[in-house]
Amino acid sequence: MKKILLGLLAIVIALVLFVLIKTVLFTAESIKYEKAELIEVPDAALERLKKAIQYKTISYEYPGEPDSAEFIGLHNHIATAYPLVDSLLEKEVIADYSLLFKWQGSDGSAKPIILMGHMDVVPVDQNTLAQWEAPPFSGEIKDGIIYGRGTMDDKVTVFSILEAVEMALQNGVQPKQTIYLAFGHDEEIGGESGAGAIAEFLEKKGVKAEYVMDEGGYIGDGVVPGINDPVAIINVAEKGYVSFKLTITTPGGHSSNPPADNTIGSLAAAITRLEENQFPYRMTPVVETQIATIGPHMPFVQKMAFANTWLLGTPILKGLNAHTTTAPTIFNAGVKDNVIPTTASVVMNFRIMPGESVESVRQHVIETVNDERVTIESISNVNEPSPVSDYESEAYSTIAKTVKQVIPEAIVSPGLLGGGTDTKHYRKVSENQYRFLPIRISPDNMTGFHGINEHLQVENYKETVQFFYQLLKNLQEGE
Ligand SMILES: [Zn+2]
Repeated sequence: MKKILLGLLAIVIALVLFVLIKTVLFTAESIKYEKAELIEVPDAALERLKKAIQYKTISYEYPGEPDSAEFIGLHNHIATAYPLVDSLLEKEVIADYSLLFKWQGSDGSAKPIILMGHMDVVPVDQNTLAQWEAPPFSGEIKDGIIYGRGTMDDKVTVFSILEAVEMALQNGVQPKQTIYLAFGHDEEIGGESGAGAIAEFLEKKGVKAEYVMDEGGYIGDGVVPGINDPVAIINVAEKGYVSFKLTITTPGGHSSNPPADNTIGSLAAAITRLEENQFPYRMTPVVETQIATIGPHMPFVQKMAFANTWLLGTPILKGLNAHTTTAPTIFNAGVKDNVIPTTASVVMNFRIMPGESVESVRQHVIETVNDERVTIESISNVNEPSPVSDYESEAYSTIAKTVKQVIPEAIVSPGLLGGGTDTKHYRKVSENQYRFLPIRISPDNMTGFHGINEHLQVENYKETVQFFYQLLKNLQEGE
């Protein structure tokens, strides 16, 4: 008996030692970069963003034509505010409201790069107006902060790119690669008519880009527990999207004599089964790299978990939401208080992890619900998870290096995006889609995305312009 106990103790000690050694040896690779002198961004840039915010280029959920006066107004503002972009680059207006600029590179054989952004914004809930520090379509600047729809999502991208390109043209910066600026007008409602049409236009021209870059990855400032340094996430993949409508049909009946398996109760039980049988959390190569990149910067206890995911990985995977998510979002049933309805329906939304598919989710739903009275149909936009872009490529390192040049203390890591971006339309135009924009997301402004009091620090806007300018410089021959 004693021998067994001693043996067990030895195993435990060995295990603890192994965990500790792995933790101590867990170090991050550093990104090599040369220090750069950053471009000075003039205050006039803020006035140009402010004016852009004032155009109500809203995408509404219900189908309808975009407000042409607002969109054309914004186009004219771009033409006037950026005269070199307007006169030196080839311009195409696509699907009436989207814009595509082509800036010819110095090396005809180099694959082009596409810098994306979208000009539309989501509406503002009128009931929340009182909670805004400044009106949402004012672009008002006070105490070093600019307020309004689009300051985070996504006029910030469009205008910081335009600022950078205009200054590059002024200063004779000339990238090797041809650079496309692709600005859609309906990202907030799926991007089909805007980004979809631009991508189709490029495809028809035979354009094969080295990569496209879009919103969708940010700099976390005080949002990663235990890390004070900013964490820049370049998202190299995004989850897929599908909503299934589940409808149950029964004979119904009088409420005074309810059947054992009532309509609403049966559907509710099906939802509960789906919620209780979640898709498994999975360690994919991207998630593994993210853990290996960020983990070494953690305080000791968290670092121990990050260094030993084989033993302590589940909470981390949960924190990263590394699985296909399951969310009931709409429920409909019943017409009268004394009638058992003959039908009830629920919409379940799933965000699909790379490695799974719309079809595998459908199978999971059928098997888990396991009720022949329930029919399943997919509604709304369906998107398979994206392919994973190469994060060991030269393109990725150039983006990562540029981040370090602008924000030297940043920890830069690839990541997986839970939401969706317009990049989904560009899968045939390029194999590599990098979702990154150096705006800083902190607990203070996090709710600004599609929410209340959207705002951005003026200094952060300038950093964003500096980032794109520096990227263009890094793409120059001989740089
Ligand atoms: Zn957006």
